[in-house]
Amino acid sequence: MSYKEPAPIKNQENPFESMMSRFDEAARILGLDQNIYNVLKYPAKAVIVSLPVIMDDGTVQVFEGYRVVHSQAMGPSKGGIRYSMDVHLDEVKALAAWMTWKCAVVGIPYGGGKGGIKCDPRKMSKGELERLTRAFTGAMRDVFGEEKDIPAPDMNTGPQEMAWLMDEYSKINGQNSPAVTTGKPLVLGGSLGRVEATGRGVMVSCRAALGKLGINPMEATCAVQGFGNVGSISARLIRMQGLKIVAISDISGGYYDPNGIDIEAAIEYRNNNNGTLEGYPAERITNEEILTLDVDVLVPAAMEDQITKHNAHLVKAKLIVEGANGPTSASADLILHENNVMVVPDILANAGGVTVSYFEWVQNRLGYYWTEERVHRRADRTMKLAFESVYAASQKYNVSMRIAAYIVAIDKVAKALAFRGTF
Ligand code: GLU
Repeated sequence: MSYKEPAPIKNQENPFESMMSRFDEAARILGLDQNIYNVLKYPAKAVIVSLPVIMDDGTVQVFEGYRVVHSQAMGPSKGGIRYSMDVHLDEVKALAAWMTWKCAVVGIPYGGGKGGIKCDPRKMSKGELERLTRAFTGAMRDVFGEEKDIPAPDMNTGPQEMAWLMDEYSKINGQNSPAVTTGKPLVLGGSLGRVEATGRGVMVSCRAALGKLGINPMEATCAVQGFGNVGSISARLIRMQGLKIVAISDISGGYYDPNGIDIEAAIEYRNNNNGTLEGYPAERITNEEILTLDVDVLVPAAMEDQITKHNAHLVKAKLIVEGANGPTSASADLILHENNVMVVPDILANAGGVTVSYFEWVQNRLGYYWTEERVHRRADRTMKLAFESVYAASQKYNVSMRIAAYIVAIDKVAKALAFRGTF
């Protein structure tokens, strides 16, 4: 069956269904063995825990925590932990599977996992967040492990949470265990270049894609949705390639300036303004409007399901580089493909983060630390090679970059499973 005759999409707003419809498409094109298909369709493990935490006012609040291991066929499962009120099992399942494909696309020896806690970190004190992170680590003590399952930062988590997690896990096991998590602060075994790694990979993918499309970066415009770690650093590095960033956005809304936003000033503004762009001096637009601006490049770097069948036909960008996980729904894919919009998919475009996580894990286990220059060089090379292999698959099978990325990934994981041959 060709790409023009896709399977019907059952419910594209459910992230797991959205992931599965692309998986099905790629599996069909690959002629994936039915037994292997059946194995990869289900997460290997899903753990849900209740986490009682003493709040600052003395009351006990019980939070729900999740960790899903999708696959460990290629190695220990790897993937971040997010803190958000939107966390739910289907989302974590989809994100865990995306990690399996992401690690396979860039060729790092990991399976995929993901975790999350349903909470609103902006309403919690530092002490409450620390107790919550420690409770989660204790509850997941048998899931995590440097050769088993290795967490990392994701939405609303960062080096501080990873430091607490590593400390708690080390205490429980009675030995220092830096490689149990990545994205740690530098002084605790973090890697140089990890904080910028995802945004840097987005920039490398963007540059490679512009080359394929024959677009001159010095004459191109770009809009970036989301101004957290991924969005702001992507914007900074894409700007440094010569593109004019005409719009940025965060939870407070969008900010548009046709003459170009000064990204350094915007980052500085956000840093001195409680982490938000609220009040930034530029024309106000919404987080929906930013997606349909007349720009060459669109970088959705906020959250899932932003480009859907309801707005995909309004997208004017020629290139979408997905900084976020799952920002485009499966039904939107078809519309974008028909409209000749190139989409560098999440499992390729934002894989720079997990790539440098892998370098961090390697350094922890070696006890030997690399220079920033070495980290950047190796990560850039990994991203470029991955981009080229996905691009080649898209040409070979005449499919979108997204389906091509799934094909590259599923093929590797299927081979690993077949060699293991344990079922
Ligand atoms: N949370 C990031 C992602 O979605 C990084 C995961 C990791 O480094 O393990 O890719």
